[in-house]
This record gives sequence, structure tokens and C-alpha cells, in this order.
Amino acid sequence: MLIDSHAHIDMPEFDNDRDEVVERALKAGISYIINIGSTLEASRKGVEIAQRYDPVYATVGIHPHDAAYANSKLYDELKILLDKEKVIAVGEIGLDYYRDYSPREVQQKVFRDQIGIARDINKPIIVHSRDAKEDTLRILKEEKGSGLRGILHCFSGDEKMAWECIDLGFYISFAGPVTYTNASRLREVVKAIPPERLLIETDCPYLSPHPMRGKRNEPMNVRYVAEKIGELKRLSLEDIARVTSLNIFRLFGFDNNIEKEGKIAYKIRDSLYLNITNQCTNECTFCVRFYSDYVQGHNLMLDHEPTIEELITYIGDPTEYDEVVFCGYGEPTLRLDVIKEVAKRIKERGGKVRLNTNGHGNLIHGKNILQELQGLIDSISVSLNTDSSDKYNRICRPRFKNGAYDAVKEFILESKKYIPDVTITIINSPDLADAKECERIATEELGVKFRERSYNVVG
Ligand code: SF4
Repeated sequence: MLIDSHAHIDMPEFDNDRDEVVERALKAGISYIINIGSTLEASRKGVEIAQRYDPVYATVGIHPHDAAYANSKLYDELKILLDKEKVIAVGEIGLDYYRDYSPREVQQKVFRDQIGIARDINKPIIVHSRDAKEDTLRILKEEKGSGLRGILHCFSGDEKMAWECIDLGFYISFAGPVTYTNASRLREVVKAIPPERLLIETDCPYLSPHPMRGKRNEPMNVRYVAEKIGELKRLSLEDIARVTSLNIFRLFGFDNNIEKEGKIAYKIRDSLYLNITNQCTNECTFCVRFYSDYVQGHNLMLDHEPTIEELITYIGDPTEYDEVVFCGYGEPTLRLDVIKEVAKRIKERGGKVRLNTNGHGNLIHGKNILQELQGLIDSISVSLNTDSSDKYNRICRPRFKNGAYDAVKEFILESKKYIPDVTITIINSPDLADAKECERIATEELGVKFRERSYNVVG
């Protein structure tokens, strides 16, 4: 399931074949199209279209280009539309200093007025920001509070701006430009931000993605954006579809589409991940568990810790996967006996096993658990997370107060004796670690592989 989070199928470009456009989108696996209003007239048409086509939802708002025409009577009309069924947000609103079709101070006032409308009715906003980074952020920060949330659409800012928007509770949506050859800076932003904050869009009829450039864009082309983002995030199309759809469901409150129960086993790329506990001996400041039940679109908040037999049933044939990974929403070595028995059975059936761990296993059990894992685990990823003991205590807040960082390094060295493939990982954020120093520690001091991973708990 893919969702085009930003389309303008109300535009005249679609007047002759709107039925076929929606039909083609459905056939291509696009489950929802969110039609974005940009003027009062376009918003009215978008709402009518949403009433006519099941998969289409609508937003209403005044684009910064038309800010000069906004007044209180027009706002009253918008409020009437916002009350209608399937109207889910205010937008697109914001600032456009590239075209400057309306005076900047007017754009700012109309932006704030519409944020106020959204806040009054508790709906998200869809933000357009072009060459107006400072003022957009300033206004969002000043207007923040009482649940302001939404989407930065067709994001064209830098990584710093993306993080500031995420910290303000916003999602970042990418359109066709991410597929263009000259968009390397934008692609770096995609790589840096967490999938849990990503969305995809076409902004059709504009911005056709490669290889459709030069043609009218339409919702089915959101697939090309999804594929490019998957390539950049090392995720499959299926993963991107699941994650970005969940992001939409959560933002707009499409609750009936959201998985309510925590998963014991879940697939990412071609690997099967086993979620065997939600307990952990760290309380990392960046841990996804503290702000979400979901990772990569999967609900991982368990209502019970799975038994060995449950896990074996979920795994089925382990050779169907590249590897089976003990991971989840906690520290798997807390359940050492489960890891040993399940890994043994996977190996007996010809599967490959990886363990993702915080490296506290020996501290937890007061013995060298690595000897016991020999022959059962093919590869191990240990989260070192940072480059010094002080930083580790500050960032990871380990239950083992003294010497946890050194114990993790000792665990990594010991792993080399018993497990064929050892990697240490850090989060790719300069606020958490000096990546170059961590790489040196991995390759020169510990003699293992090094990998930077994105901002969530799944390796
Ligand atoms: S990021 Fe990993 S090690 Fe840190 S608290 Fe979360 S589950 Fe535990």
C-alpha cells in the first residue's frame, strides 16, 4: 500500500481523465490520494473530488502565492469546507519567497491565520516552504503548542532544517526531485532522517519523477519516489510503503488501519526480525521506544514475551530469509535461554542467525555468554553508540553505572573469538558520536567491522 500524500488532481490538467487517473493509481497499489487545496476554488473542487472517489481525501487552504486574496470572509468559507467529511487538514499554507507572488509580510500573516484555524479544529497543516527557511521555522516555533503538527511538503531544505521540523512534531515529505541526478544534497537529507518521519508525494501534475520527467505527473508515479527512498534507506518498496502509510494513518488519525497488537516477528528487507523482549538495560536518549510503539511500520510493543514455541511457529522455514535476527524493542540477551534454543533450531533447519545487542550480555548474566553462543550465531551487531565512557553514560544511561562502556568493548573483543562476523554500530548523528573516532575504535582498536545506522533501534 502506497499513499500519495500530496496531489492536485483537482487541477484542470486532470479534467479530461480524472476517473482513469484514480483507476490507474489504484491498479498501481496506491491506496489513498490526498488532494491538497491551494485556493478557495481549488479547495472546493478537491472536497467534491474526495466525496466522489473512495481513495481520495482532501485538505483545504490558501497557498502563499494567493495570500494577498485572503480575508476573513474567505476564512469562513474554508472553515465550512473543513467541517465536511474526508477533509483532513489545512493546506497547503506557508511561505514562498522564490516567486514572491504575494508580499512577504502578507504571506506570513496568512500562514499564521491558517495555523490558528488548524489549531482551533485540531487538524494538521500542510506546509509549503520555498526559499523561506528561517521565517518558516520561526513561525512554526512561535506557533508551536497545543498540538500543532503536520507535513513539510516537497521538502527542499537541509538536514538541519529537517531535524528542527521533526523536533517540532512534523513529518518530512519528498517528491520527484529526490530522483533527479542533481539532487544529491536532498538525498543526503533522506538518508539522515528516521523512516518514522518520512512521507512520499507526487505534487502532481508537477515534478514528475525520473523516468517520467517531461510528462504530466500523476499519483501512480509516487512509486518512483518510494523506490528511490527505499534505495537510499536500504529498505524494500514494501518497507517504505508500510512505514509511510503508517505515518499517514497516525498523523491523520485513520485508526482503523493501524496495527493494534505488538508483533513477535516482522520482516524488513529480506530478513526476519524476532522481537523477544521489551526490557532493556539501557535507556538511550534516542531510543524509539520512548516515543513510539512502532519501528519501520511495525508495532513492536509486546503484550507478553513470546515462548520458544511461539517463535518457532512464527519463523516457519528460516531458509526463506537472508537471516533471522534477534532484535526487537529491547535487549535480547536478557532472554539468553530463548536465544540459544531458537537459534539452535534455526541452524538445524539451515537458517542464518544474527544477534543485535547492546553488548551487556556478560554484565547481565555475570559470565561469558559468548562461549555459549558459539556455533549458534553467525553474526553479531553490537551498539557501541559513541566514542567515550562519559558520552556513553550520558547518551545510553546504562543500568550498570560503572564501566558499562568498557564492558561493551570487552564484549566486542570476546565476540571475535566465538562469532564469525562482528560489527559495531553507531547512530549516524554527530550529536551522539564522533563517527570517525568510532570507526577508528572499531577497525584499529577492536579489529571489527563498523557501520552507521539510521535513527531507530532496528539494525
Ligand atoms: S536503543 Fe536499544 S539499547 Fe538503547 S534503550 Fe533502546 S533498545 Fe535499549
